[in-house]
Amino acid sequence: MIGLLLADVVFVDGPDSAAMTDQERGRALAFIIKGLTHLSELHEGWRAHQQPPVSTSCSFAVTFDLVSLDLPPASLPAVSNPKKPTVDDFNAIDCVWIDAAVDALGQTKAAIPDRKARIAELAADATTVALFAGFNPADAFVIFVTKYPCHWMGYTRPYPLEGFSTLCPPMLDASEWKNRYDLVAAHETGHIFQAPDEYVAENLTCDPTVKSGPFGVVNSNCELGNPTGVKCLMKRSDLELCSQTPLHWGWTDDDHDGTLDLLAPATIDSFTVVNPRLQVEEPDGRVAEPGWTVIIKGRNVWDARLVTFGGVVSPHMWLRALDELAATIPDEVSGIVNVAFTTRAGPANATFEQSWILVTQPAPPPNNGPPEVFGLIPQRGTPGTNVKILGASLVGPTRITFGHVEANLSSLPPEEVQDPHQIEIAVPLAPQGPGPVPVIVTTARGSSTPSIFSSFTYS
Ligand SMILES: [Zn+2]
Repeated sequence: MIGLLLADVVFVDGPDSAAMTDQERGRALAFIIKGLTHLSELHEGWRAHQQPPVSTSCSFAVTFDLVSLDLPPASLPAVSNPKKPTVDDFNAIDCVWIDAAVDALGQTKAAIPDRKARIAELAADATTVALFAGFNPADAFVIFVTKYPCHWMGYTRPYPLEGFSTLCPPMLDASEWKNRYDLVAAHETGHIFQAPDEYVAENLTCDPTVKSGPFGVVNSNCELGNPTGVKCLMKRSDLELCSQTPLHWGWTDDDHDGTLDLLAPATIDSFTVVNPRLQVEEPDGRVAEPGWTVIIKGRNVWDARLVTFGGVVSPHMWLRALDELAATIPDEVSGIVNVAFTTRAGPANATFEQSWILVTQPAPPPNNGPPEVFGLIPQRGTPGTNVKILGASLVGPTRITFGHVEANLSSLPPEEVQDPHQIEIAVPLAPQGPGPVPVIVTTARGSSTPSIFSSFTYS
C-alpha cells in the first residue's frame, strides 16, 4: 500500500429492495472516502516516526461506476447460517450479482472466464480514466457497494483470490457498524493490500502462524491465545497500528535511507531463459528465441510497469515473486539487445553487461557446443585494455586469439566459477599496426566462428 491508490467504487443497483437512492450512494461514498483518509493518516503517523522520516506518501483517489441490473433480489438464496457464512454462500449469493455487474460493465464471462481477471480489467479501466483526468495511480482496486443480498456485511477477497472488497449497507446498518462504515472500509482496504485479520469471532479465527504481505511477516498480533496483543485496525478496526500491519502493507525502511525498501531503484541480478515449448530452463542464460520467456531476478522488479527488449515492449509480463519477473520476448526482436524496465523509482539500475541478451532463431543449445562470440566491450582499444568477451559456451577456454596473437589466460578464474557467457581478458600486443582483427575463443569443444561482432580494433 504505497503511493497514489485508486479506489473504483462500483454501485450495483437493482429492482425492489436492491434499489439505491442518490442519497444512499452519497452516504456510502462519504464513508469510503473517510475510511481511505484514515489509511492516509495512519501512513502519515507511521512515516513521521521513522528515522529518518520516510518520504513516500500513501494517498487515495476515488472514482465510481453505476450499474443497474434487472436481477430480482428475491431470486437469490438466503445465507445458511447468518453468523457463520461459508464460501458456498458467497458463490450462491454474491457471485450472482457480482458476475452480472461486471458483465454489465463490459467485462464479460464469455470474453474472460476468470473472475479475478475480469475485476482486474475493471480496475485497469478506472486507471485509464484517471490517466485522462491527469493523475497516474500506482495501483487500483474495486469496492462493490450494493443493497443486493450478501453473505457478509463487509468483506474482501484479497489476492490471489479475486482482489476486491464489498460493502453491503443494509447489513451494515443492522450491525454495530451502522455509523462507522468508514472503519469497515479502512479495514477491508487493509485486506486488499495483504494485511490479515487479527480478531477471533464466530465467523472467523485469525491464525498467528500465517505469513502475509511482501515480506512474509507472521500475524503475531492475532488475538488467538494472545493476551499481550495491542489495538489495531486489522483487529477490531481501531485507528491504530500494531507493528506487524505496516510490514504486511510493505511499509519498511530497513536501510534507513528515507525511502521505502519496496520503492528503492530496481536492479537486474540475473536472467533465466525458458524455452516454453520444451519447458527447459537455463539459469544465467543469455541466448533465446523470440517468444521465449526471460525470468529477470533483481531487487524490486515487482514494481515494473513494462519490460522492453531492445526498446520493443514485451507483449506479456507477469510477477513470480517480489524479486522475480517473467517477460515474453517480442517476435520482432533479434540480435544482441538490452532488457530494460521502469518502476516508480525510475529505470532499473543495470549496465549493458548485466542486461544484454542475444535473441536469435534458432538459439544454439545451451553451453555444450563450440564457443560463440556475440560481442566485445569495448570493441576498440590498446594492448593491455581489459575486454569483456560476450557469448555462449565460453567456459574452459584453452586459447583466445586477437589476430594471430594469443591472450594470456593465466588471470582467468578456475573453470568451476567461469561464466559461460562472459570472459574478461587483457588485450595482447597488436599482431600488426592499428586496425581490426578477429577474436577467436577455443575450448575443448571447438573454436568460435569470426563475425562482425567478434572483431576488435587496435587504436
Ligand atoms: Zn477483516
